[in-house]
Amino acid sequence: MPLPKRPANEIYSPILKRKRSSSPNSGSDAPGKSLLKVFIIDAKLDAEVVEDLRHLIDNFGTAAGTQLQLCPSAEDAQIVITDIHMQKRIERHVNWDTAKQKAIVTPQWLRDSFESKQLLPCGEYAALRELYEETIQNCPEDSQISASNDQDFPPKAIPSSRKGAGICYNHHYSCMRYSPLICPNQKLVEKLAILRRHREVEGLDIQALGYERAISVPFPRVITTNDFHEVSELPHIGRKILSKIQDFIQHGDIPECRTILNETRYQSLVLFNTVYGIGPSTARALYSSGLRTIKDLERHYGVTSRTNDSNDNASLEHLDRSTKTGLPDLSIKVGLELREELIMRIPRSEVEEIRDVVMNELAHIRSGCVSTITGGYRRGKIESNDIDIVISHKDLKPGDDQVKGLCAELIRCLYDKRLLTHVMYLSSFREHNTLRTTHWDSLQKALTVFILPDSGKGQKRIHRRLDLIFALPEVYHTAIVGWTGSTMFERDLRLWAKEKKGMKFDSSGISRRHDSKLYFPKSEEEVFELLDLEFIEPALRNADL
Ligand code: ATP
Ligand code: MG
Ligand code: MN
Repeated sequence: MPLPKRPANEIYSPILKRKRSSSPNSGSDAPGKSLLKVFIIDAKLDAEVVEDLRHLIDNFGTAAGTQLQLCPSAEDAQIVITDIHMQKRIERHVNWDTAKQKAIVTPQWLRDSFESKQLLPCGEYAALRELYEETIQNCPEDSQISASNDQDFPPKAIPSSRKGAGICYNHHYSCMRYSPLICPNQKLVEKLAILRRHREVEGLDIQALGYERAISVPFPRVITTNDFHEVSELPHIGRKILSKIQDFIQHGDIPECRTILNETRYQSLVLFNTVYGIGPSTARALYSSGLRTIKDLERHYGVTSRTNDSNDNASLEHLDRSTKTGLPDLSIKVGLELREELIMRIPRSEVEEIRDVVMNELAHIRSGCVSTITGGYRRGKIESNDIDIVISHKDLKPGDDQVKGLCAELIRCLYDKRLLTHVMYLSSFREHNTLRTTHWDSLQKALTVFILPDSGKGQKRIHRRLDLIFALPEVYHTAIVGWTGSTMFERDLRLWAKEKKGMKFDSSGISRRHDSKLYFPKSEEEVFELLDLEFIEPALRNADL
């Protein structure tokens, strides 16, 4: 079947790509699309149901282009989803005056609207008899929803003045493709992700990477049997993966996925991987020694899980102390003890709050520091697994451990204020080989566990993973590019630089391979320019699952 011709710079939704968390308002910058904010009242809903509802929100899209966004508070939402049907009980979660201004519906409204690809009238789904009228009145219609007023969120998609000439959806390198968070082939990708995960936990890295690459390749529409020829010509889709896709299109499933999901071994390995510090090989070793559950791990490592009392880091002080830093180490033991908190995803507002607290403390140590929140947050994810912040100061100089010193000072100060509970320094700032002699100390990374101070509003604070990256001013922008991700995008940036441009790129610098000439880009755009790449907005670097 001949391929339909498309302009190289057309924006394609990555069809083979899955979103890990709620997608941002990609609608606000796409004409004709709009965004509707939804708040879920968890009470009375099973965790699994909540997970399903979130999933529906993530993947919601009406024919008129309306998308949904999970919203952390009822105040800011237009729709509130709940299984509570009594005024008294709902008032525990939403102020009654606020409730009157919302459409308050049962979960079924979301399921049915999702199924029918339209915003259904809310009346018949009203959760509260008392607010039946208001729910009808406040029920949004596709054409009425206004775009988010959040000014810098989501990050701008593709600026019209910068449409990348070389960029196309089937380019070999993901740093030459636009990869937004939205993904039309969600179900297929989730199946492929199971195969990828399986290969990954089993240590079959090459196969896992194969799936990861396939998943990252965008496709312009939902794949049907008519598309096989076109799909077979996409980069990174080999015979094996194509046959899995064929299975899925024909039978709605990939048989191997079902087998994998039923394996105790797979279940345990994946579970062990949710502990910070336990990678696939440790997980396999633990499994081989007969361990199967988190309880088994707790016995093995001699810890008990903490579900409350989390604002007090004193109780953690008995844990391993790093001999290097004198501060509690971020070890497997800690990962296990804090597992239930660390696996909780972090909303954007908390990411920003944490950045503000950190930068405020840093300002007391040294005024004039600059910072950028990178990672998934910068790519527009609604919820992140951790917080990544790149920090610099214009006066930092190489050579006498200034970067390291500032980082250590901040860590000590945050620890003394009980904001930071654990830390692990990564010494891999020497990663940039060609820079070793002159620039070996350009970056300092500290992987930490952070907890916000009590807000005084009875809000439970939980431990969060926080990565702090201190950079010399001349590598600030490379560090930002290097820590924005996604991981596949970064992998391809490195490969592109090496294979096509004879350059070396990583977070700590850019250099020319044949003579080790160093480059110090003054902006993120310049990083791309130096690598002879079209600039791609962070929101379009979501080349991972
Ligand atoms: P999330 O945190 O929500 O899982 P993320 O994309 O922010 O998503 P991270 O693991 O925080 O994932 O990594 C952010 C980016 O920082 C990665 O894409 C990677 O490019 C870079 N990165 C992470 N760890 C390191 C490291 N040790 N050295 C260099 N770069 C790293
Ligand atoms: Mg991150
Ligand atoms: Mn991180």
